[in-house]
Amino acid sequence: MPVFEIETPVSEIIERTYNVKSFRFASPTDASYKPGQYLFITVNSHRTGLTKPLSISSSPTEKGFIEFTKKLTDSEFSRVLKEMKIGEQIKVKFPLGSFTFTGEYEKIAFLSGGIGITPAMSIIKYATDMKLKSSIVAIDSNSRIEDIVFKRELDLMLKENTNLRVIYTLTDSNRDLSNWQGCRGYVTRDTIKTNIPDYMERRFYLCGPPLMVDAMTKLLMDEINIKKENIILENFFGY
Ligand SMILES: Cc1cc2nc3c(=O)[nH]c(=O)nc-3n(C[C@H](O)[C@H](O)[C@H](O)COP(=O)(O)OP(=O)(O)OC[C@H]3O[C@@H](n4cnc5c(N)ncnc54)[C@H](O)[C@@H]3O)c2cc1C
Repeated sequence: MPVFEIETPVSEIIERTYNVKSFRFASPTDASYKPGQYLFITVNSHRTGLTKPLSISSSPTEKGFIEFTKKLTDSEFSRVLKEMKIGEQIKVKFPLGSFTFTGEYEKIAFLSGGIGITPAMSIIKYATDMKLKSSIVAIDSNSRIEDIVFKRELDLMLKENTNLRVIYTLTDSNRDLSNWQGCRGYVTRDTIKTNIPDYMERRFYLCGPPLMVDAMTKLLMDEINIKKENIILENFFGY
């Protein structure tokens, strides 16, 4: 797949949560990518070379635009994105990476943490739009309800895609969760065994911050004997 390097205006900005925004730009007509791949985004700033790798959160089935979604922190890169207006230029290099799924396996499972949902979102949207037969279970771990990035979109896809199950778990134990229907606490061996009883038959896709991805890899390999070749990683290491 050819790699594109383009300079393009941002065409749409979508507020996802209090600290997460999605940014869209027009997809070049000859560009293609696989669901789950990532891109390099360079923003304009008084400092040169403000570039970060970010997963594509749209699906190739969504025509006309490509979307990435950033958790906005206090960094310079995030500050530029927070203040970004429609029409401002960004540099984009894509598509990159092999954290992809287009129906190769009958059964897969995602374990995502926080903003790590982005490549899973791309893949789940693709599987739903393409009406793939593959069974997908996603366990999405967040601190609090307001941190769940694509809850509305995932809940809508659950109605459309009978091969999809999404389990949310919240880890902030200081919150009153009396009205919360989902799971609580960090993902453990029991979370997986209870929610994914056929876990031995699945490919696991892990995506999120390095600490979470490392902990999940250990859990899968050491505690429930998943083989390394059945684990696919996207590690959101700092850049
Ligand atoms: C393949 C891949 C895909 C990825 N996909 C995504 C994605 O889809 N979405 C996403 O959000 N991230 C993604 N990441 C991670 C992303 O590239 C960034 O590393 C990450 O988002 C942190 O960026 P940052 O803006 O917080 O900057 P960083 O510079 O990494 O900041 C790290 C921390 O330091 C603090 N900090 C930095 N500078 C300052 C300052 N001047 N003052 C005060 N505090 C400061 C920030 O608040 C932040 O908490 C991906 C990474 C990889 C490798």
